[in-house]
Amino acid sequence: MSKEIIKKKGILFIISAPSGAGKTSLTRELLDIFPDIRQSISFTTRKPRPGDIEGKDYFFIDNNQFNKMISDSEFAEWAEVHGNFYGTAIKTLEESRKAGNDIILDIDCQGARILKDKGIRGVNIFILPPSWDELRKRLVDRGTDSIEVIEKRIKNGVNEVKEAIWYDYVIINDNMDKAVETLKAIIIAEHQRYENLSEGFLKQFLD
Ligand code: 5GP
Repeated sequence: MSKEIIKKKGILFIISAPSGAGKTSLTRELLDIFPDIRQSISFTTRKPRPGDIEGKDYFFIDNNQFNKMISDSEFAEWAEVHGNFYGTAIKTLEESRKAGNDIILDIDCQGARILKDKGIRGVNIFILPPSWDELRKRLVDRGTDSIEVIEKRIKNGVNEVKEAIWYDYVIINDNMDKAVETLKAIIIAEHQRYENLSEGFLKQFLD
């Protein structure tokens, strides 16, 4: 059977975690390991932090632009997180689906829940910090947020963990290398699910 008929199916990987649990670093490692995986770039009203790059970390927009995107139904999901708005554009998901690429969404549990309730199929992965003390230490060491913001993020984190029960996978990030290996195993295993196999995959063995 011709190779064109074996169409690749991309998978949507949704990763949520309390901030500071290491989600960003883990996602970066995955993108290095699997060069075909794309990362969804969200829109946010949060102000850029030092080092944030427009169009790479986020598309930074103001409240008016965000509200316009909501009223134009441009978001697959959006949510208010830690006092700022964040959203994933439908266009981003559509483009990767059409290209057959895997895509990673680094979004909070409200957004993940919206996608699940809309019936958008994805693999939901929740990353836990080793402990709240360790999380506080990481956020302080990161030096990008004030103590008040850090405490707010931890408080929100405790509520977010309650949502981990409906995720498909839960990983404790107590060791970066181990967490990367676990994520890698999940991605490889998900591609072997019958429903995720390329169209015509089995047919090539039957012709
Ligand atoms: P940060 O401002 O630290 O980059 O992200 C704060 C939180 O917003 C994180 O939990 C992150 O996962 C979440 N987030 C980032 N982009 C989106 C998005 O498009 N939608 C939703 N619902 N949450 C997002």
